Amino acid sequence: MRWSQAFIPTLRESPADVESPSHRLLVRAGFIRRLGSGLYAYLPPGQRSLLKIAGIIRAELGAAGAQEFFLPLPHRHSVGRDTGGPARSGDGLSSVEDRSGPASAADIPHEAAFTELFRREIRSYRELPQVWYQIHAGLCDELRLKPGPRRLRQSLRMDSCSFDRDPSGLDRSYRLHYDLLCRTFTRCGLKVDTVEASSAGTDCSQSVDFVVRMGGGEDCVISCSCGYAANLECATSRISEVADEPACGAPRRVPTPGQKTISEVAAFLGAPATHQIKSLVYIAGDKPYLFLLRGDHQLNEAKIRAFAGNMAGRQARPDEIRELFGADAGSLGPVGISGMPIVADYALRGRQNMTCGANQDDFHLQGVTPDVHFRPVWADLRAAEPGEDCSRCGRPLGMYRATRIGYLRKLATASRESGAATVLDAEGKQVPVAVGNYGIDLERILSSVVELCHDDDGIIWPGTIAPFAVVLTPVNYRESVKAAADKLYEEMQGAQLEVLLDDRQERPGVKFKDADLVGIPYRVVLGAEKVSRGQAELFERASRKTELVDLASVIPALQSRLLGSVPV
Ligand SMILES: [Zn+2]
Repeated sequence: MRWSQAFIPTLRESPADVESPSHRLLVRAGFIRRLGSGLYAYLPPGQRSLLKIAGIIRAELGAAGAQEFFLPLPHRHSVGRDTGGPARSGDGLSSVEDRSGPASAADIPHEAAFTELFRREIRSYRELPQVWYQIHAGLCDELRLKPGPRRLRQSLRMDSCSFDRDPSGLDRSYRLHYDLLCRTFTRCGLKVDTVEASSAGTDCSQSVDFVVRMGGGEDCVISCSCGYAANLECATSRISEVADEPACGAPRRVPTPGQKTISEVAAFLGAPATHQIKSLVYIAGDKPYLFLLRGDHQLNEAKIRAFAGNMAGRQARPDEIRELFGADAGSLGPVGISGMPIVADYALRGRQNMTCGANQDDFHLQGVTPDVHFRPVWADLRAAEPGEDCSRCGRPLGMYRATRIGYLRKLATASRESGAATVLDAEGKQVPVAVGNYGIDLERILSSVVELCHDDDGIIWPGTIAPFAVVLTPVNYRESVKAAADKLYEEMQGAQLEVLLDDRQERPGVKFKDADLVGIPYRVVLGAEKVSRGQAELFERASRKTELVDLASVIPALQSRLLGSVPV
């Protein structure tokens, strides 16, 4: 490629409204442009890098025996309508309106499509295992839409499904994907952590996220030096026991005029937050739920999904709360409440003589004992926090921010009764298939690499996913230098090196700045004086080291370096 003909719109200035170094550099280096809220176009250099990432993924999956599909755009309702298959909807999905009516474009449409194909085509256990995948731009309804390419309305993803005859087969497919995802990320130049990502009650029996640590990451990981690491959404911790005064008799109603918050009630009644019950009302699928926590604990909203058909709930509005409880949010409690599920956090189990709202404004109840004065369902609802004790080893937990670039999920067979994939076993009996889901986010790989590999001058691509391997920079594209550059350019192309010839009539400083910004791993500089001696400068972007190389040795020198940069 000649730079004079390439579309690489680099910018001298930082764009406004950037969220992170990677966002700023990808815009400045001409890799992406914003077309609308959450919508980014990948320009030719960006697309070249995405294709490199896709190539690595295809190579790894192909070596593992996976087979690639090209599936139609998701119209979940049409798949569900034809087959009676499972049609989930809720958050995380984009609504799509077409001429046949509203539909949900699922963020995991491949699962429904693969399952449908499987149900129609695969009959016998002898045809298993199968691993099917596609690389595609999927829609997602991103709730926390921020500027920048890591939170998008659509994302380029690899989604794969494994179908096995039994759980031990699924174990093998899961392990296979674990290994190939690790290799993929390493080859892309990323160091990843694996963290637990499933919580009780969801439809996954085992689940892992692959994350990259970074300051601006959108996920939080709770971790411990013993190796425990979990997404904040499902992290747990150990809490110290609280001693209670023994309770006696029925709860006492006490006036608490104007006292609404946990800390106000604590000060007014002398009841510490650890001895109060916090009552939170959520609406999910039009139904109310009452969630109870210890006064000093925070609700983890991700954990309540298990009780609401895997849908995210929302906090009830003040008018809904008044209608349901006859009181405002500051005076709620579980005593006397019926007609809605009451779910209490494990930290309240075995406690007694506690304080909660009386479901009457300006009154609270004291002497309340769970399982005596109200009967909850017990569950893990509490958000673990850094500094609390690790539930495995007791040491204090830490927290770091990260971005998720891949995942593995083992689907629980029990949750897949309707529309599940089945095969005939050796006895001719219909048996459910063990299914796994796996994914990689290609765009997040790209932005994570930039986030972690850059300096003041620009991006530093690993050779494996750089848009070009080499930029050939004649200081002045004229006369003897032009002749030498054209000759070397042709030879590099003949040697299958991905070379960008900077044939622009620009000052050398401009050319060097652009090459540094775009982040091409190697730069070969041709100047009149050195060319006359049969030499070129070979500059390595990552180390910023320059060495003199004979013109005849430039290509072998590059080949050995690029080969050496490929992690195995
Ligand atoms: Zn630990």
